[in-house]
Amino acid sequence: MRFQLLEDEPHIKPVYLQYLIEQWHEIIWYNQPVDKSTVDVIVVRARVQVNHNLLQHYPHLRHICRIGVWLDNIDVQLCKDRNIDIHNTPWSNAAAVTELVIWWMIEISRRLKSIAHDWNDRYVHEWHQLNSYQVGIIWFGHIGKRVYQWLLWLWVRQIHIYDPYYHSIGQDEVNATIWHNLEEMVWHCDVLTFHTPLTRDTTNLLDDTLLSQCKSNVMIINTSRWDVINELDLYNFLTDHPRASALLDVRSSEPDYNNTIMLLRSLPNVLHTPHIGALTYQATQQSHYFYYFDHRNRQQ
Ligand code: NAD
Repeated sequence: MRFQLLEDEPHIKPVYLQYLIEQWHEIIWYNQPVDKSTVDVIVVRARVQVNHNLLQHYPHLRHICRIGVWLDNIDVQLCKDRNIDIHNTPWSNAAAVTELVIWWMIEISRRLKSIAHDWNDRYVHEWHQLNSYQVGIIWFGHIGKRVYQWLLWLWVRQIHIYDPYYHSIGQDEVNATIWHNLEEMVWHCDVLTFHTPLTRDTTNLLDDTLLSQCKSNVMIINTSRWDVINELDLYNFLTDHPRASALLDVRSSEPDYNNTIMLLRSLPNVLHTPHIGALTYQATQQSHYFYYFDHRNRQQ
C-alpha cells in the first residue's frame, strides 16, 4: 500500500517507517510530490484538516491513520460515507500529557523560575505545597483519569471533577467531588486543568463569565485544545490578577502566533509551550505501536 505522511514528524520517522518498509509498503514523505489518486493511506496528527477539500483529491483512499486521540480534525461522517477506515491511538499519550501537567503544578507552586539564586532571597517568595491545593479536573477521559491518579499520590487537599459526558462516574467510585455545575466547581479550585475535546459545547468553555467565578490566584492549565479557552478573556483576567497563572500547551493559531497569543506570552504569569504535551519519545513510539497492531489485525 502507498502511505502518505501529511505532517512532518522528524523524530518519529525511523521507528514508524521501519515497520511499514519492512512490510513492503511504500512511503510518500511529507512534502514529496505524489499522484494522490494512487495513495491508499494518509497519516496525520492534529494539524491537517481531513475534510471534503482534502479528500476529494484522494479518490482511492482506504485508511486514515490519526496519530493521537481525538478525531476533531477529521470529517468522520464523510469517511463513513466513503468507506474509509479511521485508526487513532487512544491512551498512547496520556502519560506524556499528565507528566507535563503535574510538573507544571509543582513548578508554579514553588515558583522555581523566579527563584533568585541568592541566599537572602529565600524569604522573598511565597511558596505553596500541592497538598494544600484543591484541583479541578475538567473532563475525565484518558488524561483526566491519569491526572486524578497522580493527584491522589500527591495527597492534594481536594480533587474536583466535572465531565457532563461521563455519566457512569459515581461519587463512591472516586475519591473526589463530582460536580454537575462547572461555575460552582471553579469557585473552590486553586488549579483548573482542562482535558476536554474541542466540540461546539466546549468552545469558549473558559470565558470571562467562568473566569469571574475563579479564585484570584487560580492556576489554569490547558493541554487540551486552545478554543476551549477564550484567549482574550484569559489575557484580561491574567492582567487584572497577577497572582493567577496560566500554563498553556496549545494556541488557536498553531503553528503561527496571533496578536492575543503574543500578548499572553509577554505576561510573566504565563508559561506557553508549543503543543509538546504528547511529544515524548515514548508517546510517539506508543502511538505507532497501537497502529501497528491495528494494522496487522486488519491484514490477517
Ligand atoms: P478522551 O478521548 O479520553 O475523552 C475525554 C472525555 O470526553 C471522555 O471521558 C468523555 O467523557 C468526553 N466526551 C465523550 N463524548 C463527548 C462529546 N461528544 N463531547 C464532549 N465530550 C465528550 O480524551 P483524552 O485522551 O483525555 O484527551 C483530552 C484532550 O487532550 C483532547 O482534546 C485531546 O485532543 C487533548 N490532547 C492534547 C495533547 C497535547 O499534546 N497537548 C495530547 C493528547 C491529547
